[in-house]
Amino acid sequence: KYADKINTEPFKKGPQVTKDRANRATVEQVLDPRTLRFLAKIINSNLMSRINGCISTGKEANVYHGTHDDAEVETEFAVKIYKTSILVFKDRKRYVDGDFRLRNSKDQGNPRKMVKIWAEKEYRNLCRIHQSKVPCPRPYMIKSHVLVMQFLTEGDGQPSPKVKDYDFQDGEEVERYYKEMLICMRRLFQDCRLVHADLSEYNSIIHDDKLYIIDVSQSVEPDHPMALDFLRMDIKNVNDFFGKKGINIYPEKSIFSFITA
Ligand code: ATP
Ligand code: MN
Repeated sequence: KYADKINTEPFKKGPQVTKDRANRATVEQVLDPRTLRFLAKIINSNLMSRINGCISTGKEANVYHGTHDDAEVETEFAVKIYKTSILVFKDRKRYVDGDFRLRNSKDQGNPRKMVKIWAEKEYRNLCRIHQSKVPCPRPYMIKSHVLVMQFLTEGDGQPSPKVKDYDFQDGEEVERYYKEMLICMRRLFQDCRLVHADLSEYNSIIHDDKLYIIDVSQSVEPDHPMALDFLRMDIKNVNDFFGKKGINIYPEKSIFSFITA
């Protein structure tokens, strides 16, 4: 009965059309019955009314666009649905192993339970980051492996651009966002006690003239045995991207001290 409220087709430019009935078959192909049940719970909670299309299909998760039928509710939602694929979890093992928040979990062999733990981890990290006022999508709700957060958009129905796709006006603007990124990493470390651990031009978005951090499911606390290695990787990714944009970058070591000291 919820299939009519869920459209899983790729997101297109312009206003999204909601197809009724005909959509049901596609929805059931993309979303398994369990996932549909959790979506139904979210829709029943009245946080949002429907899913309008797919923003992104990744190897670890798909992200959908959600809205409320009541025009008074102006918020748009990004609904991230984690996949239960085993392959992905092999890759994630090194993040989970050293995380004392997850270390005692007996569920590590069970992909269904793992996606849930993983989604919860992203939700908790988002809450922490949002509370510290470091720009990130506002977290709204988590039901098992389905996470609902604020949709970052400039109001045209499209997602705000990733740093990778952003059209920088000039070198000055590149430099401004480079510095914002470094400050963001420092605040993540100092205020949120987190290392992003997958930070790059793909996992940051320019929204409302500010740099936003997304995709924080793999973020770890500084006492994770690999945390400082992850941090060095993040710094390298950031320097590689901004360096290619033609600005002067800081040496990785000075950035490392700036963030951790
Ligand atoms: P992938 O496997 O493709 O990297 P992922 O599992 O890493 O996907 P995310 O990086 O969290 O998932 O999201 C995928 C894409 O969806 C992002 O690159 C971004 O373009 C878009 N997106 C995610 N969250 C939001 C949001 N809150 N607002 C707007 N767009 C978003
Ligand atoms: Mn990502």
